[in-house]
Amino acid sequence: MRIGFLGLGNMGGPMAANLAAAGHEVTGYDVLPGLGTATDPVQAVRDAEVVITMLPSGRHVLDCYESVLAHAKPGTLFVDCSTIDVTDARAAHQAAVRAGHRAADAPVSGGVVGATAATLTFMVGAREEDFALAEPVLSAMGRKVVHCGQPGAGQAAKICNNMILGVSMIAVSEAFVLAEKLGLSEQALYEVASTASGQCWALTTNCPVPGPVPTSPANNEYRPGFATALMLKDLGLAASAARSAGVDAELGSLAEQVYRRFAEQGGGGQDFSAIVTAIRERSA
Ligand code: NAD
Repeated sequence: MRIGFLGLGNMGGPMAANLAAAGHEVTGYDVLPGLGTATDPVQAVRDAEVVITMLPSGRHVLDCYESVLAHAKPGTLFVDCSTIDVTDARAAHQAAVRAGHRAADAPVSGGVVGATAATLTFMVGAREEDFALAEPVLSAMGRKVVHCGQPGAGQAAKICNNMILGVSMIAVSEAFVLAEKLGLSEQALYEVASTASGQCWALTTNCPVPGPVPTSPANNEYRPGFATALMLKDLGLAASAARSAGVDAELGSLAEQVYRRFAEQGGGGQDFSAIVTAIRERSA
């Protein structure tokens, strides 16, 4: 297919490369010069059948749509893979449809490693027929493509999942620090909790202390992985969605404060599991 790709950063760059490697004709554009083959965004969307955006925020997506929608062929499928607010995702969808196009939100999990290896998971919000068109394109960049529901449902799935993750990492980290204080070894806690009711991804894959899970970022000086700054962004989006939906997500919003404080103290670039070091310091 002819694909226009807007936003060739840490994620978009390797994703666009994987589309090209799968045989698609990709025209890429980034506001930073030198990253893409197109010199302006209109050039990237003009002949495209599918336009993919991978941008920092909802504001970027809405502004970008405003500048390109009128220049794409009628019926072009716009797929936004950025992580943005559910409200912004629905507004972007409406803008695309009003301009005579089709649209889907398809945020990802898997990070830069998944973007490079084409092993991302896509969470898609789209009408059935738009999902059918998007699915083979997304499959060239990932391992799993899940149709979560109508427009906005992909973003909803992403922020709900990451709210669970943000909260559970703090719970696991507090438990490890408490165990240390109680004279219980990290390995013993791991062996019990990983096969008992405390089992979760934050413990068994991204374990916040070095040792029990040799591949976790804790064994590599907390190099991300999934940076605290990105977790903070996603918890901000979750808090905003909870507010507008009238949900009292007490731990979700507390988790946002906990990671914000850690980021302000210089932890923003570390893997979010480094939160255990802040809890340990405050408990010294
Ligand atoms: P990034 O900052 O590396 O890349 C964004 C790119 O968009 C930049 O190169 C920027 O110059 C470009 N850009 C901004 N406005 C533009 C415009 N109008 N037209 C064209 N290009 C424009 O960010 P990233 O890490 O690639 O993340 C992109 C999105 O993916 C974000 O929404 C992020 O939350 C999400 N995400 C990131 C990760 C990760 O691990 N990095 C994981 C999952 C989801």
